[in-house]
Amino acid sequence: MSFFVVDVALPVPLRRTFDYLPVSDDPISAYQPGQRVRAEFGRQLLTGIVIGTRAHTEVPHNKLRPLLQRLDDEPLLGERELKLARWLSDYYHHSPGEVLEHWLPVMLRRGSDPSEANDRHWRKASLTATAPVLKGAKQQALWAAFDGKTLISHSELTSAGFTLAQCRRLEELGLIDEVSALGVPPVPEVNQPPLALNDQQQQATEALTACLGSFKASLLEGVTGSGKTEVYLQLIDQVLEKGKQALILVPEIGLTPQTVRRFRERFAVPVALMHSGLNDRERLQAWRQVREGKARILIGTRSAIFTPMPEPGLIILDEEHDASFRQQDGLRYSARDFALIRGREEQVPVVLGSATPSLETLHNALSGRYLHLKLTRRAGKARPPGMKLHSILHQPLISGFAEPVIQAMHKHLNQDKQVLVFINRRGFAPLLACRECGWMAECRRCDARMTLHQYPPHLHCHHCDAQQPTPLQCPDCQNPQLDPIGQGTERLEDALKQMFPDVPVKRVDRDTIRSKDAFDHLLDDLAQGEPCILVGTQMLAKGHHFPDVTLVVIPDADAGLFSADFRGMEHTAQLIKQVAGRAGRAENPGEVWIQTLYADHPKLNLLIDNGYHALALALLQERLDQQLPPYAHMAMLRSECDDKAQAKRLLEEAREFTRIWLSQRGPDKNGKHSAPISVLGPFPAIMERRNGRFRFQLQFFCPQRQPLHQCLDVIVQQLETLKGYNRVRWHLDVDPVDTL
Ligand code: ADP
Ligand code: ZN
Ligand code: ZN
Repeated sequence: MSFFVVDVALPVPLRRTFDYLPVSDDPISAYQPGQRVRAEFGRQLLTGIVIGTRAHTEVPHNKLRPLLQRLDDEPLLGERELKLARWLSDYYHHSPGEVLEHWLPVMLRRGSDPSEANDRHWRKASLTATAPVLKGAKQQALWAAFDGKTLISHSELTSAGFTLAQCRRLEELGLIDEVSALGVPPVPEVNQPPLALNDQQQQATEALTACLGSFKASLLEGVTGSGKTEVYLQLIDQVLEKGKQALILVPEIGLTPQTVRRFRERFAVPVALMHSGLNDRERLQAWRQVREGKARILIGTRSAIFTPMPEPGLIILDEEHDASFRQQDGLRYSARDFALIRGREEQVPVVLGSATPSLETLHNALSGRYLHLKLTRRAGKARPPGMKLHSILHQPLISGFAEPVIQAMHKHLNQDKQVLVFINRRGFAPLLACRECGWMAECRRCDARMTLHQYPPHLHCHHCDAQQPTPLQCPDCQNPQLDPIGQGTERLEDALKQMFPDVPVKRVDRDTIRSKDAFDHLLDDLAQGEPCILVGTQMLAKGHHFPDVTLVVIPDADAGLFSADFRGMEHTAQLIKQVAGRAGRAENPGEVWIQTLYADHPKLNLLIDNGYHALALALLQERLDQQLPPYAHMAMLRSECDDKAQAKRLLEEAREFTRIWLSQRGPDKNGKHSAPISVLGPFPAIMERRNGRFRFQLQFFCPQRQPLHQCLDVIVQQLETLKGYNRVRWHLDVDPVDTL
């Protein structure tokens, strides 16, 4: 038998793969890319993915170790998935093994057999079996449940009130057999017919339908309530017709049962779901249902983009501007950017939908790289809400609200409508302070204030999650009176309850809504149409349909206007527009009141008077002038250490590597000089200390992508072998969305 080694990607941070000898007598043909294997790595036992086999290795033969086990006969990941994983690991300069982990549900990462996703099913032992005489009524009912059925899943029987023991009893009588099979997601019996599209929807649907069958990126820019979802649904219908599968990505909190119902009730095909609420087994089940083609539609959050599909037909990203499409730790990928790479690889169209597209996407649409489709009017009878800036400069406020704003709330409630108050800060107050000596409750581990919570009372750092009891007096001067300063959802809830004693006030934030079901209950409750006031965070801003909300109040729009992040204004405008879009989505006209100290802020006025698109064009011009993304490519190297000097010094070394590399960089193979790369920093992050560690950053900008990535490659390689920085954590953020 000739010598060979197996090239294995292991889930370790090192940006490389590893050579192993095969399991004892395995022939080379036993190994195929995409299989899982078990391997010893140092003292750890890991599950890795086979990348390939090779006849040569640079590892000395006495250091080679054999694999412990081959877990799969058939590869779990195909050529295409491996190629896409390679793209991710190159583009984000990330460990190939850690990238590949994203492609497998947790149970498979841990080495489980895929068949563990199977459900217990039962079937009649013989189709012709005549009705036996059964003792109990329960037994008879169970037997009757098999009437006209070939296969029933065990979960279906338990939800109908039968037990395993009862099934076993019928099995002993020789009436039914146990089988194990992968379940199929439920298919609803009632199907909702499609709506008659308006002209704009019709045009968009036709243009997108024409893209099916090959890769094309499109932006569907439609104001909130313009019927984007209806366009998706009708497009998906075409995809299913062609025998293909559709993948729909939605923001983290967008995947409510309300959304799911809308998809499930439209199509007579199994729809699989993937979100953070699934347990490991459910996740494996959904993954297999999609991968084996049993589910024809997959709706999921960010990580669903890593689900293999045998018959891909379409990828949709709804609310493409949403921050949750970006993973903020480990593999810092953008599901939106990767969706486009995947679409190109699989030759399927990718539709990005939003009322407030990111400037990156808008730039691509305006420059003609993406098909640009617009829905400028609300669908059905709904009208756009009227937006009003209300200056609170020198105005007395009652618990954070100006008098005319309170009057507006009364007016809408008296008309039996609902009011939504948006504040992007949970807790009671962002600050607890002593007016005698100036003491403030600060986090010991972060450069940040602790947020005061009242329900239940405690101080909470929203950055490191530290919690402590609320002090009864000032720790510095013993003043027994400490004052909450500023407003959070809890405080507004209290104030509104006092101002409107006859109206229910519902608080919606991460502290009151802990599950998708809780959110669905709230939506069902609101659908009753009784007047009420909703107070909440951006949970309320995303894509939800509140037909009876006619007034939206934003008591404090100013926090987002002066952010140090160059995307601050973009994100603030998106949030304001999204929240405002909740008003008047049905027949009732809506109104939006925005309180601000800066009523003459030019950008805020542009947004209110001319809309998001107009503001976005102005912001794009600024980005062009300043050579910021999307006109430059950006990456950030961040370091973190409990020793401030070390954190900074590591980045200084990286800066030096870059300088040397740039000075040695010659012209490219065509004799052209490569685009310049500018390096800024190292400087401390805006919040210099978080969770006990000092944070620094080094920023890279380049008008072209390729030279930047060459440079990053070199830096990462050098940093990996750099000695003396064991305590410093560092990572690279390619196309960072948060630059603070
Ligand atoms: P978006 O996704 O753009 O926010 P939706 O698709 O949720 O918009 O549509 C908003 C509302 O308008 C929904 O209640 C939807 O049922 C309704 N709607 C959408 N398209 C039409 C149409 N062509 N005719 C009538 N109502 C429509
Ligand atoms: Zn004090
Ligand atoms: Zn903290």
